[in-house]
Amino acid sequence: MSTNVLPTYDDVISRYEPVIGLETHVELGTVTKMFCGCPTDFGGEPNTQVCPVCLGLPGSLPVANRAAIEATIRIGLALNCSIATWCRFARKNYFYPDMPKNFQISQYDEPLCTDGYLDVEIDGETVRIGIERVHLEEDTGKTLHVGGATGRIHGATESLVDYNRAGIPLVEIVTKPVPGLGARAPEIAKAYVAELRDMIRTLGVSDVRMEQGSMRCDVNTSLNLPGAEWGTRTETKNVNSLRSVERAVRSEMLRQAMVLDGGGAITQETRHFHEDTGDTTSGRSKETATDYRYFPEPDLVPLAPEPAWVAKLKAALPELPSAHRARLKTDWNLSDLDMQSILNAGAVSLIERTVAAGASPEAARKWWLGELSRRANAEGVELEAVGATPEQVAKLQVMVESGKLTDKLARQVLEGVLAGEGDPEQIMAARGLEVVSDTGALTAAIDEAIAANPAVAEKIRGGNQAAAGVIIGAVMKTTKGQADAKTVRELVLARLAS
Ligand SMILES: [Zn+2]
Repeated sequence: MSTNVLPTYDDVISRYEPVIGLETHVELGTVTKMFCGCPTDFGGEPNTQVCPVCLGLPGSLPVANRAAIEATIRIGLALNCSIATWCRFARKNYFYPDMPKNFQISQYDEPLCTDGYLDVEIDGETVRIGIERVHLEEDTGKTLHVGGATGRIHGATESLVDYNRAGIPLVEIVTKPVPGLGARAPEIAKAYVAELRDMIRTLGVSDVRMEQGSMRCDVNTSLNLPGAEWGTRTETKNVNSLRSVERAVRSEMLRQAMVLDGGGAITQETRHFHEDTGDTTSGRSKETATDYRYFPEPDLVPLAPEPAWVAKLKAALPELPSAHRARLKTDWNLSDLDMQSILNAGAVSLIERTVAAGASPEAARKWWLGELSRRANAEGVELEAVGATPEQVAKLQVMVESGKLTDKLARQVLEGVLAGEGDPEQIMAARGLEVVSDTGALTAAIDEAIAANPAVAEKIRGGNQAAAGVIIGAVMKTTKGQADAKTVRELVLARLAS
């Protein structure tokens, strides 16, 4: 049936329309778990942060964490949602070793927040992504399959389970289906997750670290022919970086087009994204809601947030990223396009912190969008994981402005910073990269260059200043590029003035 030949992306877009949807899980940064007093610290010894409640032992009873409910309402408000005045938790029943109770306390038909939106800026245009619901649930434990090559259960000799994470409050944010994005669907999916991450970070309710799993994304993708009904969607699970969100949508669009082109049908299923290859493989066939036999959680009272409390939380929301960017754009005197390129590069807060550490906005922008973006792209990492801190970049810039480093030397110092050799001053000293500003040493180098090039020196004495390049080049060579070329030029001309 299938032709097994991947079409090109342009070809897919010319014939199909994608519809995407995103389900994002965010672990809240509360001190204790959702329904018990166990700590939520990351990285503890396995099964040391557990109690009868989060292990689901008989007779234990859950009590809802007020801080988690407050954080969820604040997320809902920031996403322009309606906040329920009365709702309930629900039991989602499933048998899987990562959940010791054999059910998860979640929310089903009565979520805490519904019907909102998040505006995403892309190429100077605002795309509104509808939010279906924001609900609160508890996280599962973690299973670890050992003895196999892939870390998956298939081929493993044994499986281990750690319940430290079981019961940590988890907020699920579900978008409405987003049609009509065309070729930009993968890019907009990424921009949405980035905006959501920045917004939640601003609210201070989670550290939203995708690499540690405190923010995880499931990506729904389907294709349909123009004008036809939406196609069957697949759900790509646990996509753990912004870059992977974009790659997962794109790769699933290509794969589905290949299946459809070959006369096949898309199976509704979950798929796993592979960081190394950038493609997805089939997981389990997707459960439907009836498989989970949801029913209202009998051990918890209904949740009825007081309207006055909600109003107070709304009034106390901080400045959100879109408003913050608008203010920075004015402060930094940037065009829409400039601001967009900073946003696309994921550099807003990096530049802001570099400016706070003493660099000018122009200089901070030049470093992060220039040298450091190139480096991040080449290594396939997010800009903030590139290996230089805003404070280091600011120091480097201050050293350039004070004449200690030329631009060229500064780039060499930056190499050292990225290689983990320490702070700019240390690297400059250790690698001997300081600008030669000792006039004695420069004069000696100039005299030497003049003596080695008598004919050129004669031309300059005769008024041919353009010939000075040869002497300047020789001096720069002697000083291994560590002299300031402008100073050298001035000294050479002064030395040979007739
Ligand atoms: Zn517990």
